[in-house]
Amino acid sequence: MLSEGVIKFRYDHDERALDSRAFADAVCELASWREIMAHTGLVGQDPQRYDGAGYGNVSMRVGAPSAGFGRRRFLITGTQTSGNRCITLDDFCVIEQYDPRRNWVRSYGRIKPSSETMTHGAIYDLSASVRVVLHAHTPVVWRLRRQLRLPTTDAAVAYGTPEMVDEVKRLYRSSGLAESRVFAMGGHEDGIVAFGRSAAEAGQALLVTLARAYALECKQQGIGLCRR
Ligand SMILES: [Zn+2]
Repeated sequence: MLSEGVIKFRYDHDERALDSRAFADAVCELASWREIMAHTGLVGQDPQRYDGAGYGNVSMRVGAPSAGFGRRRFLITGTQTSGNRCITLDDFCVIEQYDPRRNWVRSYGRIKPSSETMTHGAIYDLSASVRVVLHAHTPVVWRLRRQLRLPTTDAAVAYGTPEMVDEVKRLYRSSGLAESRVFAMGGHEDGIVAFGRSAAEAGQALLVTLARAYALECKQQGIGLCRR
């Protein structure tokens, strides 16, 4: 848990810039949801949390849905960008290939990929219909994950590892995750993942889960809720 933000996979990364014409729409759509996530405390950087490492990241599939496993090309925020107030094209990179078995990624962009890249790739491999993945950190949702009946990965499985990929697949097959679109990462403090056929669908699933957690907390606190 203390290794938040540390890249645990091997990568072949080409530092060539992303084409602004090709990626403007995808980057700005992701940036808009990342902005909302930052306002709601789901993405950011705080000296008091996770030893000061940034938390939360967003991605969008930009390749054909028909591409095979490990080849569903996606755009993702770069490593250590979660605390950035401003985000630009150069803060994103493209994952061209990912292989959880070899724990390897091929990517390009001005910045290296997020440490959560392998988890994002695993979610794109669940279904060709998944187009956006949002990874948030939220203490209230994570703490109340059982009461919220959120599918949760095994706590013994660390983020960004091949084992996490198998865990995500297991949940998808067995827990109704295809419909609920949100799960908690049991071994990753405060970690939540939402996904959808669009940024709006993933974002909505995430924010509705956050609202459900606050409502539950309100009841637990004797009908009242304080702003943090
Ligand atoms: Zn995380």
